[in-house]
Amino acid sequence: MTHRFHALRVAEVQPLTDDAVSVALTVPPPLRSAFAFEPGQHLTLRAMVQGEDVRRSYSVCSIPEDDELRVAIRHVPGGRFSTFANQQLEAGQVLAVLPPAGRFTVPPEPAAARHHVAFAAGSGITPVLSLLRSLLVHEPHSRFTLLYGNRTMASTMFRDALADLKDQHMARLAIHHVLSRQQRSTALLDGRLDAACVQRVLRTVLPARQIDMAWICGPDSMIDTTLAELLSAGVPEAAIRFERFGAPGALPTPRSPAPERSAAAFTADITLDGVRSTVHGRPGETVLDAALRAGQELPFACRGGVCATCRARVVKGSVSMAVNHALAPWEVEAGYALSCQAQPETSHVEVDFDQT
Ligand SMILES: Cc1cc2nc3c(=O)[nH]c(=O)nc-3n(C[C@H](O)[C@H](O)[C@H](O)COP(=O)(O)OP(=O)(O)OC[C@H]3O[C@@H](n4cnc5c(N)ncnc54)[C@H](O)[C@@H]3O)c2cc1C
Repeated sequence: MTHRFHALRVAEVQPLTDDAVSVALTVPPPLRSAFAFEPGQHLTLRAMVQGEDVRRSYSVCSIPEDDELRVAIRHVPGGRFSTFANQQLEAGQVLAVLPPAGRFTVPPEPAAARHHVAFAAGSGITPVLSLLRSLLVHEPHSRFTLLYGNRTMASTMFRDALADLKDQHMARLAIHHVLSRQQRSTALLDGRLDAACVQRVLRTVLPARQIDMAWICGPDSMIDTTLAELLSAGVPEAAIRFERFGAPGALPTPRSPAPERSAAAFTADITLDGVRSTVHGRPGETVLDAALRAGQELPFACRGGVCATCRARVVKGSVSMAVNHALAPWEVEAGYALSCQAQPETSHVEVDFDQT
């Protein structure tokens, strides 16, 4: 995999709800292998928005068999990229796109008879839809239960696609819509997809012992509460995967160096796409800050420790991270770090972006 942005033409922008669109991208034949994806992965899209170079992560909602690379973008009021995508983006325009990345995935096991259970809120359905479709095809003996939180059915992304899937896989797919602003006859699923709702569901229709793999995707707060409830109900940590979309109100913006947190200047040898170079970091800088100041093109998107686009392995020296919402403990132990957060603790570090 390379870490370079590629220019992809927008093939189609299709409204999904009043405040969400899906965007299909044309992948020319020479880039097919670079853009081969696993269900659950995301792309980093980059565009000049009102004079600002903005890059954001969006999960792929299609599956490889569709022969189409498609993402879905919900409008966040005041949000830079999502407003641009929902109001200005049109077929024929060109976006800069990083190849697929992310570990919210699982290799399908065709002989397995597993019960996958997904908790998705709002646009968090995007990678879950891809996983769900793919697993229903590639694990013919497995079943899938989806709990999907939205305000109303009208604001529910992929409502019709999910209903069609349900018709096709009656016996293996269960979908429970949890609606916060639309009352129905079932109190079980009224309200928000919050701790109380997850508790109710685990106590009644979905006991933890029946869950082989759990998938959680949405805003930070929803992930944290769902994760805590699943763990306390006895679902093993190793059986749970989650993908954070960011924290409303606290989303990362590029930060300036924080000299009080850092000891000293440093040198960093950086390997990217087989090329090694050295940058000199100032006290308080992260590896990413130092590299960008030196004019290097490193892969990154959120700059806030959420999306993991800037994940790399520290092969010499050590770093500390102010924020890590993306890496599992085993990854940190194995030397992986988010370069947007990584402040060297040693005067020299070697950071390898090719060891994914
Ligand atoms: C791995 C990953 C995958 C993602 N996949 C998708 C996807 O498939 N579809 C999708 O629509 N989004 C997805 N996101 C979120 C997306 O990357 C952007 O954060 C989101 O579109 C907002 O960007 P913006 O430029 O419009 O807002 P910004 O200009 O960055 O933010 C403007 C304001 O909105 C708030 N805000 C930012 N993001 C969110 C959010 N997610 N929810 C609520 N408030 C927010 C900020 O705090 C800020 O106040 C994903 C994020 C990650 C990390």
